[in-house]
Amino acid sequence: MVSFHYKELKTISKNTKLIDTYFISRVSVSPYRSCVHDCKYCDGRAEKYYIEGSFEKDIVVRRNTPDLLDEKLKKSREKGFVMLGSGTSDPYQFIELKEKLTREILKRIKKNKHSVIIMTKSANVLRDIDILRKINSYGKAIVMFSLTYSDDVIRKDFEPYASPVAKRLNAIKVLKENGIAVGILAMPFLPFINDSYEQIKSFTGILKKLKVDFIIPGALTLRPGIQKEYFMDVIEEKYPLIFERYQELYNKKLSSGAPKSWYVDELMEKIHDILQKYKIPMYIPHYLYKGVVPVYDEISILLAHMEMIYSSHGIDISRLKRGRKQYNEYLSSQRSYYNKKRSLRYTELESRIVSSIENGQMINIIDNNKIIEFLKEIVVENKEYDYINKRIIIENRKV
Ligand code: SF4
Repeated sequence: MVSFHYKELKTISKNTKLIDTYFISRVSVSPYRSCVHDCKYCDGRAEKYYIEGSFEKDIVVRRNTPDLLDEKLKKSREKGFVMLGSGTSDPYQFIELKEKLTREILKRIKKNKHSVIIMTKSANVLRDIDILRKINSYGKAIVMFSLTYSDDVIRKDFEPYASPVAKRLNAIKVLKENGIAVGILAMPFLPFINDSYEQIKSFTGILKKLKVDFIIPGALTLRPGIQKEYFMDVIEEKYPLIFERYQELYNKKLSSGAPKSWYVDELMEKIHDILQKYKIPMYIPHYLYKGVVPVYDEISILLAHMEMIYSSHGIDISRLKRGRKQYNEYLSSQRSYYNKKRSLRYTELESRIVSSIENGQMINIIDNNKIIEFLKEIVVENKEYDYINKRIIIENRKV
């Protein structure tokens, strides 16, 4: 029996000096805490999140999140993405059909002319396609579905109350037909269950046909404590033949819950190879955030993604890493100044950074001519970077 606990939040997410380059947002909001989807591997039930009661049966409903977000966005002087949802609660779990808090949040995002990136395992997101289309008319709406297989038997064992695979695939199709960008959070791949080369290849082939914009993969982590015990009980009961292999793979008791590194290396190598063949990026691609986030954040995200892309290809990233560090230090100091000067608009901060790239003064910040020349093409000549072919595309496409 699921219980709902109604709570008022005092604040939502904190202001950060630098953007979250993984999920390309500065603001995040979750109208619920904990999750009835009851994914057996969910990190949300780990002790570090201080969940009261049962993770899948005691759901906190934060009724004032739309108002808090509205206030925050009204005061914000910057454009960009709001991250809706989290790794510890799904914004479209079934209580949403009654409470409509996620829908209300989307309305406030639209009212304040921001963009949105949604993380979900539920096809209920289709209910809000009308608002997503409106957000897309001035900014960008991105839906990230969490999915790692095309087999509903696995879903029933590990994600019993999330939408069936066929429903999620249909939702992807409908969203794409409506011009909404869709990415896949392909995590966690479950060792020895859905992580073979053939399984990942066939799953990726299905997603390619649906024209997903990106796939962000990840391995299963099992933090010592409730999360690991809960998950291992399922393996012991339903997959007893691989129980010992799991114990061996996760015997390091790392607080992150990471498996042995050889496994992660092998998994990532397979995924990398498959995604390259299908030409699907492993990070949110440049064309989805260019023009949506301020130019100074676009640079932060792009340099971070390039670092990860290049290192996964075995390319030396030491100079890029240094340049990114120098840029981020500079941006942090500029943003401190911007935060103090309430009369300053973000476009003025953008212009300052674009001019310093254009007139070459950025070399005093990033002592690397190659990076400056690259940034000139991106922000002055408004070109786009192609994550798959690792090259600049002449024209920035409109999606
Ligand atoms: S949908 Fe997400 S938050 Fe909910 S139980 Fe599954 S993994 Fe956790």
